[in-house]
Amino acid sequence: MAKRDYYEVLGVERGASEEEIKKAYRQLARKYHPDVNKDDPQAEEKFKEINEAYQVLSDPQKRAAYDRFGHAGTDPGFGAGTGPGGFGDFTFEGFGDIFDMFFGGGGRRSRTGPQKGADLRYDLRIEFEDAAFGKETTIKVPRTEICSTCHGNRAKPGTPIKTCPTCGGSGQVQSVQNTMFGRFSTVRTCDRCQGEGKLIETPCPTCAGRGRVRQVRTIKINIPAGVDTGHRLRVAGEGEAGERGGPPGDLYVYITVKPHPFFKRTGNDLILEHKISFAQAALGAVIEVPTLEGTATLRIPEGTQPGTLFRIRGKGIPYLNGSGRGDELVRVRIEVPTKLNHAQREAIRQVAEAFGEEVGLPEKGFIDKVKEAFGK
Ligand SMILES: [Zn+2]
Ligand SMILES: [Zn+2]
Repeated sequence: MAKRDYYEVLGVERGASEEEIKKAYRQLARKYHPDVNKDDPQAEEKFKEINEAYQVLSDPQKRAAYDRFGHAGTDPGFGAGTGPGGFGDFTFEGFGDIFDMFFGGGGRRSRTGPQKGADLRYDLRIEFEDAAFGKETTIKVPRTEICSTCHGNRAKPGTPIKTCPTCGGSGQVQSVQNTMFGRFSTVRTCDRCQGEGKLIETPCPTCAGRGRVRQVRTIKINIPAGVDTGHRLRVAGEGEAGERGGPPGDLYVYITVKPHPFFKRTGNDLILEHKISFAQAALGAVIEVPTLEGTATLRIPEGTQPGTLFRIRGKGIPYLNGSGRGDELVRVRIEVPTKLNHAQREAIRQVAEAFGEEVGLPEKGFIDKVKEAFGK
């Protein structure tokens, strides 16, 4: 897109005085400030254009370059005399308060200096028992690490590393901008060294001069007793490598616990559905029930009703903080036998008789037999 002439943007003559330029800018900036033009999407573009024009025309040196060479004169790469970064470096990221923008609040963040590595997420499915009692295990995590050949300095070992002459090793360059409030300096990442502050001659062959490599690393983790689905373990310092000497990020292990074939977990308690016979429920019994670590004996009193819940203390899941355990809750169901031999059938019939109950189905009549024979 062709750039408009800066004088045209500000609506002033080519020979306009500094005072006239400032005045025109002030009026236009007020008119097109995005805060007062929220419904007009073009105002923001316009506002940027006005700012850009003013940055150049308010600076005698930049204005002279612009007068001679037009927009090419404001290109950052134009002429050695324009200083670090030249000008024309206008980046406005969103608009807040007008002061925000002029005083750096809305500007870009510096990307130089040490930066912590990114955090990593690892999803781990564990056995029910391991969640209950904890386990030491290993996981394989693909991540970015500092190259072990060059130790992150990107140069082939033994080859020279020079301080970047453009930024003097700081990784940052300063440029001065003029606004109606005065001169402001902006700091940005050095283009020449990408903010590293140094230049290498021969890149490290292992990492191709990146200083970092992708690697699958085996990491030992300690699953504490009592974890549950949805819990997250933080393994400090095992995330992605940091940049420019920054510390590595952290690794977060997200836990999913596999279901158990017969235990259900609610908080730190276990629930077990357990079948007993009618006779055991009626007459009482001492039975064995499974626990996470084997079996436990449970006393079923006489006359136990279906659905009754028995509590076995301390046989549940340990608490994460290490103090004690939940309980195992046994809910009894009455099992009705489906296949009976003759003797069992007779015995049950006698029980029914003793209770004065009518049992058994009526003898099938002739019609029923016919229906059965025809499958209906
Ligand atoms: Zn390397
Ligand atoms: Zn540099």
